[in-house]
Amino acid sequence: MTNSDVTTSMNRLNQKRSKEKETLQTMVRIYCHGNHHTKKDLCPECSELMEYAFQRIDQCPHMETKTFCSQCKTHCYRKDMREKIRQVMRYAGPRMLFHDPITALKHAWVTLRAKERASERQS
Ligand SMILES: [Zn+2]
Repeated sequence: MTNSDVTTSMNRLNQKRSKEKETLQTMVRIYCHGNHHTKKDLCPECSELMEYAFQRIDQCPHMETKTFCSQCKTHCYRKDMREKIRQVMRYAGPRMLFHDPITALKHAWVTLRAKERASERQS
């Protein structure tokens, strides 16, 4: 592997991380605005959740191979945080279509694929 190969894959990884952060931020924002009636900034609880999730993304050892944290086999989220993020996903997922259709569709497709693969393994 040459030095430039390493740089390229590092860049790809960084792009993936920032893309995941973007998606997450959009979802938390939709959730907070809808549920906690915030206007622009997040409430303290949701900012904490986002901070926490950002840290997980930064430290995730599977960033290269996986798609989204919600599909990750390694559950690196603390239990209470995982509950919260699931609520956020459930609420914001369908609403993402209006805010960011491309990301929402990608996310839906990835989730679907993960489900298909899971049921294939069972049968
Ligand atoms: Zn909130």
